Formats: sequence, structure tokens, C-alpha cells
Amino acid sequence: MFNNNNNNRIKTFTNIPTPFYFYDLDILDKTLDCIQRESGKHGYHVHYAIKANANTRIMEKIQSYGLGADCVSGNEILRSLETGYPAKKIVYAGVGKSDREIQIALDANIFCFNCESIPEIELINELASARNKMAKIAIRINPNVNANTHHYITTGIEENKFGINRWEFDDILETLKQCKHIELIGFHFHIGSQITDLSVFKGLCLRINEIQNWFEERQILVNHINVGGGFGVDYNEPDSNPIPDFETFFGIFKEFLQIRHNQSLHFELGRSIVAQCGSLISKVLYVKKGVNTKFAILDAGMTELLRPALYQAYHKIENLSSTGAPENYDVVGPICESSDCFGKSIRLPRTQRNDLIALRSTGAYGEAMASRYNLREIANSVFSDDLA
Ligand SMILES: *Cc1c(COP(=O)(O)O)cnc(C)c1O
Repeated sequence: MFNNNNNNRIKTFTNIPTPFYFYDLDILDKTLDCIQRESGKHGYHVHYAIKANANTRIMEKIQSYGLGADCVSGNEILRSLETGYPAKKIVYAGVGKSDREIQIALDANIFCFNCESIPEIELINELASARNKMAKIAIRINPNVNANTHHYITTGIEENKFGINRWEFDDILETLKQCKHIELIGFHFHIGSQITDLSVFKGLCLRINEIQNWFEERQILVNHINVGGGFGVDYNEPDSNPIPDFETFFGIFKEFLQIRHNQSLHFELGRSIVAQCGSLISKVLYVKKGVNTKFAILDAGMTELLRPALYQAYHKIENLSSTGAPENYDVVGPICESSDCFGKSIRLPRTQRNDLIALRSTGAYGEAMASRYNLREIANSVFSDDLA
């Protein structure tokens, strides 16, 4: 994206106040083309996990490819409706759905609630009953599959707060019998994020097969399976691998998941759709000598990109302005927290004040996690077609 053919783009960046989020719509289009083609081969349904990036233009573009929305709050449901996602393609998960949020979803007639506990199912039943409606739900099952990813972004093992565990299945069936305004239409799974070891998804498929058998023995059939998201991206080499290998990803489910007759298969992809189209563009404020190191202090920090401070995530760092001899820098932000650091001993061409720095692969969980800590302004977003 920022290779030598693209010097003109770097020149146009020079006139834009930093920091800002830059989105390459060409990469987003190519990613969506690929998803449409590869999921279409098998008739799979893909919902965009909008918590990854709820920027309106990004959401509208993804919607234009026919994807549905995966929401984790009432406001995300409202934003999805505003940006054109049909209610019948909206799914809604979350361990702490409030009364107001459930009402929003019921009033909108969304496709499916992904329910995470028995008391939640009981509340949805009560609120649906008051509206004289049937609420369609899937139970989010904790399949106890380890995603082999950072423990803060693992969600599918029993000690996590997410989902319903196997030892609760009998109680769930009892609850569903009591709840006359609930219709069970699916089984939902989501085991974690940034999963690059694809054998994890094979393990998930095999576990889902067992779980389906258990329910089938009890005469419970559902019309869809939702396997969640979590497909990872290449943060080390975004230019070599700008588009995740969706052919292999969907192929694993085709090969290992036993889908019943007339059952549809749904995915909730976030990061793998939007990560690589985004970069955070920042300027060097100062280069400061440390004890055994040099600090490159940027005008962007954890307020614009939280992932490194939150779970030691790595984003590739590039100096767009310099071609000098390489040196090591600790690249840090201006925020008053020691964890406000983007990388230690990063090799960059000789760096000085006012150089433009790109933090790559920030399209997912970048802008979406921005905060106003230290009373900073929320950074602007700039799209590749704005610069044409
Ligand atoms: C966050 C989330 C996703 C998307 O995860 P990615 O790793 O971004 O693909 C999907 N489903 C649920 C329920 C989520 O919470």
C-alpha cells in the first residue's frame, strides 16, 4: 500500500492534520469480492461484526456486498439499521443485554438473538410476551475449544464469561419448555479472535457435530448454525497478505462440519474483513534519548490505537518519510501511561521530528476503540477516494 509506486499518496498525506485513520477502499473492495465469491460457492451467510469498525462509510460499503450485521449492543443494532442492513440479517450477541437493548431488537424484528444465559432467555421471553411477539433465539454454546490465541481474546473455554456450558444443557431445555414466547432456531459459537492456526476451526467443527448429535437425540433440530468469527490476519506482513485466505477458511467448514438438510451456516467476521484496509497515520513529535534506547514519540497513542496497550498486540510500523540508514527505536505515544507503547527496538530508517509514521492493519479495533482519555480529540478518518 505504501510502496514506492505510491509516493504521491505519501505527498498527499503531508497536508492532512495528524493523527488520522486512513482507509484504502481498494483493499476493502478486494476483500469483500473474495468473501462474496468464496462464501457464495457454499451458500454461506456472512454477517459483519460491526464492533470491529462502525465507521459509517465502512459499514455501508460492506452492506453493499450483501453481508448481514453481527451486533453486540442496542446502539449497534440501530447503527446497522441506519446504514442499510436489513433487520432479517441482524444477529445480536452479548452476555449483558439490557432491557432497553432487548426492546430495540424486538421492535426491529431482528433475525436472531444469540443468548448467553438462562436468566437472559427468561427476560427476553418476558419482554416478548409483553409485546405479544415470538423472539427467535440461538443459544451461544461454549464448545470448550481453545483458540490458541491471546488469553484476553479467547472466549470459547469453560472459564470464560461467554456462552452456555455443556453441563447446563438440560436446564436450558427445561427453560425453553417454559418460555412460550421463545423460538429456538439456532446454535451459536464464537471461540475467540485473531485465530491463525486453522486446525482450531477444524476442532470447532468436530465439537459442533457432537453437540448437534446430543440435541438431535432429544428431537431438537434448528434451522441454522452460526460459527462466529475470529479468523486472523497477518499483522507482520500486511503487504504480502492483504487479503486473508477465505477459500481455505470456508473450505474447512465445508469439509468438517456436518450441516443438516435445510440448515444454513452463518459466520460473523470482523477483523478479517476490515483490519488490512486501515492504517493509523501519525507524525513524530520528538526523538528522545533514553538509557539504552532512543524513543520516537508520536502524536498518536493508545487513545487512537489501544490494542498494543491492551493486549500487547503488534502492528507493523513504517516511516513513510525517511530513507536513511536503519536504527532501533522504542515507538511510543504521548499519553501519560507507560503501556502507551507501540513497539520496542523497532528497526526504522533514521527518524526525526515531523516524519510521517504508518501503523499498519488498524482497520479493525482501531478507530472503534478510540477514547478521549487525556481529553484528546477523536482522530478523523480519511478514505483513499478522498485523495484521488
Ligand atoms: C467480536 C465478535 C466477532 C468478531 O470477531 P473477529 O475476531 O473480529 O472476527 C464475532 N462474533 C462475536 C459474538 C463477537 O463478539
